[in-house]
Amino acid sequence: MEDWIFNGRKKRSNPMTEMNYNTLLEEILIKRSQQRKKTSPLNYKERLFVLTKSVLTYYEGRAEKKYRKGFVDISKIKCVEIVKIDDGVIPCQNKYPFQVVHDSTTLYIFAPSAQSRDRWVKSLKEEIKHNNNLMVKYHPKLWADGIYQCCRQTEKLAPGCEKYNLFESSVKKVLPPAPEKKKRRPPPPLPPEEDKNEEIVVAMYDFQAIETHDLRLERGQEYIILEKNDVHWWRARDKYGWYCRNMNRSKAEQLLKSEDKEGGFIVRDSSQPGMYTVSLYTKFGGEGSSGFRHYHIKETTTSPKKYYLAEKHAFSSIPEIIEYHKHNAAGLVTRLRYPVSAKGKNVPTTAGFSYEKWEINPSELTFMRELGSGLFGVVRLGKWRAQYKVAIKAIREGAMCEEDFIEEAKVMMKLTHPKLVQLYGVCTQQRPIYIVTEFMECGCLLNFLRQRHGHFSRDVLLSMCQDVCEGMEYLERNSFIHRDLAARNCLVNESGVVKVSDFGMARYVLDDQYTSSSGAKFPVKWCPPEVFNYCRFSSKSDVWSFGVLMWEIFTEGRMPFEKNANFEVVTMVSRGHRLYRPKLASRYVYEVMLSCWHEKPEGRPSFEELLHTIDELAECEETFGR
Ligand code: ADP
Repeated sequence: MEDWIFNGRKKRSNPMTEMNYNTLLEEILIKRSQQRKKTSPLNYKERLFVLTKSVLTYYEGRAEKKYRKGFVDISKIKCVEIVKIDDGVIPCQNKYPFQVVHDSTTLYIFAPSAQSRDRWVKSLKEEIKHNNNLMVKYHPKLWADGIYQCCRQTEKLAPGCEKYNLFESSVKKVLPPAPEKKKRRPPPPLPPEEDKNEEIVVAMYDFQAIETHDLRLERGQEYIILEKNDVHWWRARDKYGWYCRNMNRSKAEQLLKSEDKEGGFIVRDSSQPGMYTVSLYTKFGGEGSSGFRHYHIKETTTSPKKYYLAEKHAFSSIPEIIEYHKHNAAGLVTRLRYPVSAKGKNVPTTAGFSYEKWEINPSELTFMRELGSGLFGVVRLGKWRAQYKVAIKAIREGAMCEEDFIEEAKVMMKLTHPKLVQLYGVCTQQRPIYIVTEFMECGCLLNFLRQRHGHFSRDVLLSMCQDVCEGMEYLERNSFIHRDLAARNCLVNESGVVKVSDFGMARYVLDDQYTSSSGAKFPVKWCPPEVFNYCRFSSKSDVWSFGVLMWEIFTEGRMPFEKNANFEVVTMVSRGHRLYRPKLASRYVYEVMLSCWHEKPEGRPSFEELLHTIDELAECEETFGR
């Protein structure tokens, strides 16, 4: 197994050689990961599953690239069975779970329909029927929140509680959580009909979206509930958010581009009356490709009429076509991954409190307790319009090159990513100026690590690295250099998500001790040779710092080179000396750190590559134990 888990550098699988003619089944399903933070929807990831006679493999699937994330030897599988579900407990869009038990691990996989699940369970059972390690008893329900939902046992390795019989499957006995749609709906279906399985709610009040992930609500409009994981917040979407009635081709392209999401799509009225068009955006459309495709929804000549994008897959309604192509590209340039809605969005969007508005009215801010202080001044918890919690940094006079920063703030506000601390706006018409950002309940990562020292599992530490790497990959993609990435410049929210903060801010510090590489406050211990020698910053110098940040995480907040002064570190690092392997870091994790500390910037991986390596590592360590 070791040969593919990690060999020091990113390992890409080659889809041409790996997905060969031995494939028995192949489909995008959702896999639940085992060890990550419990309630995060990130625990449910789409994976392309491929079954052959000898192995079940799952890939991170993209239109052109596929990365192998894990696999299970068929001979090691001890049980394949559907999972019985109590109503309403599946927090992902695929509602038909099954389990694959192997070694001491259970993979929970979620299929989009009962038919798809039956197909997988049947085929897998067929392949494992000669295994001599099959279980006598198994757990018919999920392991969730630290217990088996069937027998309430709290040990993950607890013996099964129900007899396992390979071919007397419970498939037929168990009702699926939501009835399959048997009846075809009448065409032509726009505006589309309701799906009887979905919970639809009506907004009682208007609600303005404050953060980028908020959905604007219009009083009286209907919304579909996707997830009810939190008492206060539900995940919802516009009922048919992807349908934009009055939108021409160029507006559609503008909207899709502004979202910049792989597989972003809308359905719009076609220029030919009575027809509909699907506009689809791909980032991986190949060289010279504009990234946009516009597909007419065509009609069959049969009676009753059917509609299709790919002739072989015709349906009675547009929502059914959309649903199908969400999971299958079937000839389209990519799957319809991400419905883009025009409602409530200005183009381009801004992450601040409204469109192109970076100036916040200070009279709308109230100040609460002090959160901490840093180079620029004191940070306080506050509220905007008496409602939304924010962090407000009051910039000490003479600490910042304010003019330059205010100009740059307009760019920084457009940087929006779930793993970046969001800049909401600035108050610049008074002194001191304020910087208003997303509030992070658990404060700075360095203190967080130190205060909870000894209480982190290695998976949690790795998932912190993953969080930061995701934020940094976004900055890299947007050609934005952080220049001072370190645990002290990351913040943690109440769910334990780590986000990157203070990106680019080093450029506005007016303190020689911090800005000059020989100054006492210059972060030498986080810097590669080209920075402490020539101040040559790049995304690759951020990668070096990221390696040090991983080291801080895996030592739970130690000071790098704690016994050495900055000038000593310069000599040591120049001579090839590197930080030691933290006790909690596996050999593979340490190899990732070492790869970040390659002497030459071009020898270091990019954040995109690091992200794949760390993702792969997280999945392997989870799937195969250590
Ligand atoms: P500076 O950029 O001036 O050095 P920092 O950004 O490091 O200041 O902030 C100083 C301290 O204030 C941090 O260590 C943290 O404890 C607290 N803090 C800063 N921003 C936030 C925030 N958005 N949410 C919660 N706490 C924060």
